[in-house]
Amino acid sequence: MYDFVIIGGGIIGMSTAMQLAGVYPDARIALLEKESAAAQHQTGHNSGVIHAGVYYTPGTLKAQFCLAGNRATKTFCEHNNIRFETCGKMLVATSSQEMERMRALWDRTAENQLERYWLSAEELREREPNIRGLGGIFVPSSGIVSYRDVTEAMARRFRDSGGEIIYGAEVSALREHATGVVIRTKQGQEFEASTLITCAGLMADRLVSMLGRDPGFIICPFRGEYFRLAPQHNRIVNHLIYPIPDPAMPFLGVHLTRMIDGSVTVGPNAVLAFKREGYRKRDISLYDTLEILRSPGIRRVLNGNLRAGLNEIKNSLCKNGYLRLVQKYCPSLRAEDLQPWPAGVRAQAVSPDGKLIDDFLFVTTPRSIHTCNAPSPAATSAIPIGAHIVSKVQSLLDSQQNAGRSLRAAGVQEPWQ
Ligand SMILES: Cc1cc2nc3c(=O)[nH]c(=O)nc-3n(C[C@H](O)[C@H](O)[C@H](O)COP(=O)(O)OP(=O)(O)OC[C@H]3O[C@@H](n4cnc5c(N)ncnc54)[C@H](O)[C@@H]3O)c2cc1C
Repeated sequence: MYDFVIIGGGIIGMSTAMQLAGVYPDARIALLEKESAAAQHQTGHNSGVIHAGVYYTPGTLKAQFCLAGNRATKTFCEHNNIRFETCGKMLVATSSQEMERMRALWDRTAENQLERYWLSAEELREREPNIRGLGGIFVPSSGIVSYRDVTEAMARRFRDSGGEIIYGAEVSALREHATGVVIRTKQGQEFEASTLITCAGLMADRLVSMLGRDPGFIICPFRGEYFRLAPQHNRIVNHLIYPIPDPAMPFLGVHLTRMIDGSVTVGPNAVLAFKREGYRKRDISLYDTLEILRSPGIRRVLNGNLRAGLNEIKNSLCKNGYLRLVQKYCPSLRAEDLQPWPAGVRAQAVSPDGKLIDDFLFVTTPRSIHTCNAPSPAATSAIPIGAHIVSKVQSLLDSQQNAGRSLRAAGVQEPWQ
């Protein structure tokens, strides 16, 4: 019997495991991951940006955790000898409509307490000779890192505190009872935990369903396709270069990202994926596709964003369409500069009434806590998210103790005694 079992070896599961082991040093804790190593899905297929917290609605968990996570990630890297760089980010407006939107973002960055600088077109060109725009915002605290390295360091710290990591364990059934949760895997193992925590990314809704509960949301997978610039362009930009996003869309737009290995990627776009963990255009799962088509929430999202969705598909199929998105602010790039680079798939929770759930979302049952929506900037925010889950565990344990105490005070024998 474990005190805690965590499902999911991405950055959220590892951060939670590491912090839980710190708060409960005598507890028996296991982390189950279906792959043979950590960070094989979203955590290992992303832009590697340590976000500053520009875009998020003030007061939301995203805004709070991103700001705190930016600092916490850098401190964690310093303490664990992980390379990172605070290279700063440039948001670039290329039309009068984007200048309007940029003013709104400028106000938001003030509400989110960020250091930032307004740049004229000339100032922008001085800092970034290869970038064209009518103006920009410079945010110095944005950075870059490999989240795979961060997750592996968290895994080492968890193991060093006595935690167990079991790879190749795909959870296929869950049963919650009065004193805990029974966990079964496809490989035939059985585990029991007093408290279960799930951090299953693209499979978040399926884990809640395994408990026989209606999750109240469905995960919609959006593939984010990248290119990498040919090596002679590794110094084409000095900072991260982002377009001004359309506030109606949840994604940030195709950006030029300096990676920690010295290369520069272009992307990601956002194309509906027909397989949750399908990284190639040709990856299609009949089960996942039927689930998407049957979901009223996802159908509403698709109907409401038909034009934008079709544009994304067009630019995904046609390299020149994709190129035009980046040429808007970096006109010197040519089609032959864009080299293949692996895609990622985002897990975006959608409500039954067709809303893309914006904030981080957690669902709790008497014996379990589920991370239900952890899209970008969740990698940046992983340390505060882990701390948040640990505080939820503490509240859950308190309420279990109080429930036991009041039953005993009333002379009622607890059903499991
Ligand atoms: C294209 C892209 C770009 C992004 N860019 C950034 C960025 O620059 N900065 C940033 O902060 N964020 C970024 N994000 C978001 C960030 O990567 C994710 O929010 C974060 O990695 C989520 O971590 P996670 O642990 O929740 O999910 P994951 O990393 O997906 O981990 C979930 C784990 O659960 C496991 N699992 C699932 N089901 C089971 C089961 N039944 N049994 C056992 N194990 C199971 C999976 O195998 C997986 O390892 C990006 C995401 C994408 C896709």
